[in-house]
Amino acid sequence: MKSSIDNMFGFVPATQGERLFQLIAKQFISAEARNQVYQLEHLQIGRRQEDFAEYYLGVYCFNMMARLIRMAVHLVSDPSLDPKQQSKSMKCYLQTEWEIAIDRQNQDGINRLISLSLTAAETSKEIVNKSTKSIVTPEHQAIYCYICDKKLERATEDINTKVQYEHIWPRSFGGDSSPDNLLPACHDCNHSKGNTLLWQDAHLHSFVLTPFPDASDIKRIQYKERIALHRRNIFRRACDERITLKMAALKVGAMGEIKYRYPDDAIDFFNCNI
Ligand SMILES: [Zn+2]
Repeated sequence: MKSSIDNMFGFVPATQGERLFQLIAKQFISAEARNQVYQLEHLQIGRRQEDFAEYYLGVYCFNMMARLIRMAVHLVSDPSLDPKQQSKSMKCYLQTEWEIAIDRQNQDGINRLISLSLTAAETSKEIVNKSTKSIVTPEHQAIYCYICDKKLERATEDINTKVQYEHIWPRSFGGDSSPDNLLPACHDCNHSKGNTLLWQDAHLHSFVLTPFPDASDIKRIQYKERIALHRRNIFRRACDERITLKMAALKVGAMGEIKYRYPDDAIDFFNCNI
């Protein structure tokens, strides 16, 4: 077995959101369950089994992450609740809505999950300050968008070339506004990437799937899906080398042209790289 969920989400976390995400994967998917997904015999044929397993597990963790953060944001925004009451409400939510039985064995993990959810929700409010910007883009150093490689400027009124600070792990999912989670990006890439957390967020069903696509079909692959392909490279690199997503993004470099893994096969998300 080449991959597993341990490796799939085994990057070095830089933010509260990433720590929460990894804990969700660990807490809610047992080793047995994850091995079963990777070894589903009925999906072995066709060379896409590993991709499908990664897709399924990613969507599953993403869904839990979004729901936990939503609840936590709701609680930390309620001025009538102190931190103790917030934790209590979160626990209640997990017990009643998610039907989790909390016992001696899992209580430490659940308590950590609750506190991380609440701190990640707080982190989502942070904005990028001036000194952080100067660390991410030091003076006298040329700036390029980390996604498309466009040259950017600090002091310009032109929105197309003015540098923006992109949260590699999105703020809305507990991404800190610290230098370890920021890279320079252009307006278009920053907005297209938006809150994309995982490559699994891409609209895979809208990806070219005709048996014989022509150049115009390939052109129609949306920018957000190209960003998802790029993001998959970043995640895989970070997990393989056990580094942060930022370090991996710098090693991977900006995205290029779409390439096919198997040129004589149908073109879908899993057969493409960028
Ligand atoms: Zn760009």
